[in-house]
Amino acid sequence: MSSVTDIFRTLHRHHRQLADLNSRREAGPRQVRACQTQLTTAEASLAEIQERTKALRMQADQKQLQLRSAEQKIVDLQSKRNACKTNREYQTLEEQIAADEMAGRVLEDEILELLERADAAKAEVPQAEQFVAAARERLAEKEAHVASEKSEIDAELVRVGGSLAEAEKELPDDIRSTYDRVVRGKGADGLSPLEGESCGGCFQKITGNMLSEIILGRLVVCRSCGRLLYSGDSRSSTADA
Ligand SMILES: [Zn+2]
Repeated sequence: MSSVTDIFRTLHRHHRQLADLNSRREAGPRQVRACQTQLTTAEASLAEIQERTKALRMQADQKQLQLRSAEQKIVDLQSKRNACKTNREYQTLEEQIAADEMAGRVLEDEILELLERADAAKAEVPQAEQFVAAARERLAEKEAHVASEKSEIDAELVRVGGSLAEAEKELPDDIRSTYDRVVRGKGADGLSPLEGESCGGCFQKITGNMLSEIILGRLVVCRSCGRLLYSGDSRSSTADA
């Protein structure tokens, strides 16, 4: 017959194993979601670059059209100038042509700049595509890893759950109801070994009387946090058993 301290120590170990397995089980889908977010971000970045390239090209095309009609206007002005009768008219048309040619050169510069920017944007595409491919690969790997880990964890949960149920059969009847109530609410945090003369869960010092009770293997509940306390020193329990 094991002492209460031994039973509590075993139960606590199983509860901690279960808590650890459950937290690993919950971490899996979180990690997959993080990979999905990275993929979404990479895809959005690629789409933004492609949109930007397209928009710059369209702006350049619009300015090309403007330039062509401006050039046509200059040709018209030139033929008007060649046909004009007065010096004054000639002079006016000459000035207008010069001004339009100047505007055309500005437009050409703008078109050149837009095309350069479109090229620079397009040059970002291969790297952005690599990021998307890498993120997609990481997501697939993570999904496969999490799925295989999940089946291992599930098997472990069944095994540890069985061990816990076995260990719980050892609990004396007068302790069982308190144990059930505390552990149902707190899980692994429902039990704690002593750390010196303090509760190992909340570090509140316990009384000398409580310490004696624990050493005798009796049920002692931490008055501060409500954990079921057991001796942290395995030798004391075997000496009393
Ligand atoms: Zn405590």
